[in-house]
Order: sequence, then structure tokens, then C-alpha cells
Amino acid sequence: MPSMAQGEHKSFVQNSKPNPKSAYSMRQKIAEHRRSLPIASVEKRLIEEVQKNDILIIVGETGSGKTTQLPQFLYNAGFCREGKMIGITQPRRIAAVTVAKRVAEECEVELGQRVGYSIRFDDTTSSSTRLKYMTDGLLLREALLDPHLSRYSVIIVDEAHDRSVHTDVLLALLKKIQRARSKPVGEKTEFGNIASQVQTQTRDANGPQQNGVLKGCQGRKLSPLKLIIMSASLDARVFSEYFGGAKAVHVQGRQFPVDILYTVHPESDYVDAALVTIFQIHFEEKPGDILVFLTGQDEIESVERLVQERLQNIPEDKRKLLPLAIFSALPSEQQMKVFSPAPTGFRKVILATNIAETSITIPGIRYVIDPGFVKARSYDPSKGMESLDVVPASKAQTLQRSGRAGREGPGKSFRLYPEREFEKLEDSTKPEIKRCNLSNIILQLKALGIDDIVGFDFIDKPSRGAIIKALAELHSLGALADDGKLENPAGYQMSRLPLEPVYSKALILANQFNCLEEMLITVAVLSVESIFYDPREKREEARTSRNHFASVEGDHLTYLNVYRESDEFLEKRKAAGSGNNIDKVMKKWCKENYVNSRSLKHARDIYRQIREHVEQIGFNVSSCGNDMLGFRRCLAASFFLKAAQRQLDGTYRALESGEVVHIHPTSVLFRAKPECVIFNELMQTSKKYIKNLTRIDSLWLSELAPHHFKTAE
Ligand code: ADP
Ligand code: MG
Repeated sequence: MPSMAQGEHKSFVQNSKPNPKSAYSMRQKIAEHRRSLPIASVEKRLIEEVQKNDILIIVGETGSGKTTQLPQFLYNAGFCREGKMIGITQPRRIAAVTVAKRVAEECEVELGQRVGYSIRFDDTTSSSTRLKYMTDGLLLREALLDPHLSRYSVIIVDEAHDRSVHTDVLLALLKKIQRARSKPVGEKTEFGNIASQVQTQTRDANGPQQNGVLKGCQGRKLSPLKLIIMSASLDARVFSEYFGGAKAVHVQGRQFPVDILYTVHPESDYVDAALVTIFQIHFEEKPGDILVFLTGQDEIESVERLVQERLQNIPEDKRKLLPLAIFSALPSEQQMKVFSPAPTGFRKVILATNIAETSITIPGIRYVIDPGFVKARSYDPSKGMESLDVVPASKAQTLQRSGRAGREGPGKSFRLYPEREFEKLEDSTKPEIKRCNLSNIILQLKALGIDDIVGFDFIDKPSRGAIIKALAELHSLGALADDGKLENPAGYQMSRLPLEPVYSKALILANQFNCLEEMLITVAVLSVESIFYDPREKREEARTSRNHFASVEGDHLTYLNVYRESDEFLEKRKAAGSGNNIDKVMKKWCKENYVNSRSLKHARDIYRQIREHVEQIGFNVSSCGNDMLGFRRCLAASFFLKAAQRQLDGTYRALESGEVVHIHPTSVLFRAKPECVIFNELMQTSKKYIKNLTRIDSLWLSELAPHHFKTAE
């Protein structure tokens, strides 16, 4: 500190109206907040444990500071020397983004400098990044380029209790990588020769790595890798056993009592019950924010609208209720809004998906409303059908949800079902690996040189049926040879593209069909939430005004029309000199055409990124212009596994599974009902619906995928 000259005296006056946003008070507030977190008092001990143990399991109550603080402790303790990084993985994109922003703020650095995040199609990191928050899936992809993850000194697998499929596979892989990194270079490891692995950073994307010895590497040891597994649930045994009795430490949280309240009768409409409860709390309970757990974007947006509507009908002095949404498809500036304190006198009501259960902690919550449901993936390998269904939450989830009300003081949790229903809930959620399509993950394992999938060291083994189904699918797509080996260029190319194998295959085929430009657009649009804006109140109006985009050939060509028209419009406006406010102009165009401007922007971004990937592989992006017949044939060749044929009664039969399916009402082919279609999505709601369709000629199937469809003799 600079010394003050003798006799100099500065007088300070209390700011009559402290400005909470001033840098000084913000900094002080953050420092105080950090010191007050339960994890702060055990910093020294945690660092010692990390130094002593190569694998450490940290279990701590949600909100105790694991995710935001531990990486900073490690950084300060010197774990990032020599340019090494600390990687922190999250199962959810939204957690990686919001936490990285918070930590950058705490460290007073710009996001993307020392602290950054990287998720698919959105990377904010730079060469100075040392604390890298990312999704578990992204780190798996990094391992394809750098099999020893050699830039990391520590990897923290956060939210391990979530048991996402990527987390499970990552744990198994990190176990192997850690072992390999403790061996001297040149020694044989489970991945083959270490020196050859060092070289693989520059390996050719089109083929298996070359076995070579990097000069000067012999005898040198790769630096060891520290592994930290973090989890919110109390049961660390499963992870400890999996890592051969690894040490587990518990970070004591601070939890105030939470009153649990149940409804007397079952609720037939939990959205309505949640709405009533929100206002009941607002009118009758002491100050404190409300957190409501809903199942997805649609539900959240409709509750948000309904709260706003009801607010208009109550006396003005009671209207100080501020609904805020948080879900993954929301732009990140809006996601961050939930963390800001409510304006004076206002009560926030946060409408969240299960992201707010353990991955992110929102300050100020005193009341929780829990309808008891969650949207979960399920998969039936015998039919190849994946679906997203609303199902009852597990006991563990329900307990986590209630706990959110007692972080800063005593709270209340309103469960929207009778107490007897609680007893019927499952104890915990089934790991995702047991309920999802495995083709993507298996292709990645194969690309990492892991051939024996059935014998792979999973924490929980997926079913044999699901593995066989995925292997068969990869074989049909031409990624794997008859013996299940990954050895052809197409298979390697598919494993490199950050897409589901079937979409990667579509791009490879489109390169041969000379319609890569069109397929890139299609895949980009299919990767975003709906490209159309469909407000419930104006559905008909929206449909009519979008008619001019519609193609009689189906949804894919319709999307292409939207994208191309928006491109033409953009070019024209740029030529006309509106380069400066192009965003505004584009938004207006979208609004007039009932196109979702956020999705369109996102699709453009994805298009650009996948285009870079395919160019790196060596593809030339060419367009088929108006040859839509050629493009449809390419769609048929790509998506032949999802073809459906019209039946006499007007329903469709999916050729692969034999399921009876229906065209979804949002498809442009809903009324036309062509004889044969390919589709991208099968969704079970009240019926089994197929979405994103294109009309094809059924004869094309046996012509373009003869290995799969044998022609009738
Ligand atoms: P854990 O990982 O143990 O669940 P976190 O490190 O995520 O805990 O959170 C620690 C604290 O930081 C919590 O009290 C939370 O309220 C606060 N916090 C986290 N993210 C933000 C944010 N974006 N804005 C304000 N506070 C935040
Ligand atoms: Mg956390």
C-alpha cells in the first residue's frame, strides 16, 4: 500500500445514497460474499487434500461454493503454472455459461481472459484462459484431438450426481488418461505408445493416427493429472468405489429449516396450481423470492404470461411481483437477469427448469414451488425410439428442490401433491446412459481407440441391446466395418464433426451429391430450437403469413427457403446501405414473417461453424442451386433409417421399427400426406408424431441404401 505523507488526512463522508453498482462497493460485496461461503473456511484443507490425492471426491451441499470457488483456490495455489489449465465440466450448457461469467466477475477479469467457457458452437476462451468451464461433452471431444488432455493440470468433473451420459463416459476416460499420464513417454499404455499420442494433436482428421515417436520425447514424463469429482448428493460411495476407494471429503453446508407443505388433494393441472400458489405466497407470506420448478420452455413461457395477465387484475399496490424465466434456450444476457436482486419492494418469482436444482444457485430464494415433475429422456432400443417425456421427479430431486428454500434463512417448500405421493417416488433418477441412444458416444469411444464397448469400464453398464442397436446403426451409416472396427475415412470424419453421426453422414453424402451448401443450412436449422415463431394466440395468422416459404416437398426445403430468403434480404439491405443497423432490420423482417430471430441468428452461427469443420476435412462447399430433386435424393440417402410409408388408413408406418406414427400438425406435409417420407424426429406426446419431413419416392430407398433395403425379387 502506498504510504501516506505524515499529517495528511482525508475525511470521508458516508454517501447518502450508496450506489450499489459502484466498482468499489461491488468489489467489497463480492469479497464479503466469497468469505461467507461455507467452502471458504476449508480452503487450506481442500488444497492439501488435492495435493495429497490424485483423485478426490468432494461432496457438498448445493450453494456451498464448490463450483465458483474451488477453481479459484486451485489457481491461487499454483495449479496453473507453466500455462496449464483447470477444466471444470458441467452436464448443462447454461451452468457452464452463467458460472463462468460469475467467476470472471469475482476475479475482476474479462470473460475469455483468465476465466472462460466453451460449449458446443460457443467458445469464449483464449490462449490466456486458465479456468475453463465447459460441458462434459465438449471435453470428450477435446480428448479426440489431445488424447492426454495434456493442457490440463486438474480436471474437475462437476455435478457428477447428475450422471449424464457424457459424465459417465468422461469418468471412465479420465481414469485411463490419468494412468497414462503417470507413465514415462515411450512406455506402452492403454492408448498405445505415449509419444505417438503426443503427436496426435496434429493428426490427420481423415484417418487413424500414425504411430511415430516424437523426437526428444523419449523418457520424458507427461505431467500428472489431478482429478476431482464433485457432487451434491450425499452418496459418494458409488464414485469412491469406482475409483478404487478414492478419498471423499464433505464440505459442510449451511442449511436452515424448510417447512414442507403438501396439497390435500392431487392436482389435475399443476400449471394452474403453481399459478395459484405463486399469488398465495405473494399475498400471504413474508418477503423473499419464489422459485418454481417447471418442465420446459413452453410451460415456463406460458406461466410467465399468465402471471403477467393476473397482475393486471389486482390492485396496483399488490403488483410488485417480477416473473423471470431461466431455461437453456434463453439468450445468456437474459439468463443472467435472475441473479440480480429484485428492485426495492419487489418479489422475484423465478420460473426454472431443473437447472436450478443443483447446477446453479440463485440468491434470495425463500419459497419453492414443486409440482413434482421433470422432463426426461427415454429410449427404447428395440424400436429405436427416443422420446422426451414429462415424468415424476425422484425423491433425491425433490429433496434438492426443497433445500433451495433454506439457504439464507428458514424457508418453505410447497409440493403440489399429497404427502402419500411422495413415498411412491423413485429414490433417484436412472443414469442417462441407461436411457439414451448410444451411437454418438460409441463412435467417439471407437475414435479414441476403445474397441471393446461391452467390456468397457462404465460405472453403470448400458444394456447390451442398446449397445448392439447403436453398433448396428453406425454400421448402417457406414462408420464401422463389418467387424465393428472404425477404420474408414468416413467413420473418422463422422467422429470429428460435432454432430450426431447421422447428420455428419448427411454432410459427407451431400459433398458427393454436390449439395453441401444446402445440407449445411438444413443441419444448422435442425440444430436450433424451432426456426419459426409460433405464438399460441396467433397460430393461424403465423401460418398464413409464412405460406410463401412452404414447399410442397416438405419441411427441409421450407427451412431452406426461409434461410435463403433471409440471406437475400440481408444482402439487398446491405447493398442499400443499411449495414449499420442490420440487426434491427433483420429482426423486423423476422417479426413480419413469424420467424424466430434468435433461432435464425443461432442457425447462421452454427452454419458458419460447421462449414469451417467440413472445410478443414477438405470438402469444397458447393450448391445444387435449384436442383431440389437432387437434394431430396440426398436427404433420402442420409436419413433412410427414418423413413415412413403411408398406410391405407392414412396413418404412417416407420419402416425401421414398424411403429404406427402420425405427421405432426406443424409439418408442411400435415395435410398433403405423401406416400413416402423421411423424417428426423419421432416424438411421443398424445400420439407418436414424426417431425421435420421430406417427401421422397419409396424406390429411392433401395437404390440409395441397398445395403439396408433389399429390393423385393
Ligand atoms: P455450489 O457449486 O457448491 O452449488 P456455487 O459455487 O455454484 O455453489 O455458488 C456459490 C454461491 O455463489 C451461491 O451462494 C450463489 O448464490 C452465488 N452465485 C453463483 N452464481 C452467481 C451469479 N451468477 N450471480 C450471483 N451469485 C451467484
Ligand atoms: Mg455447483
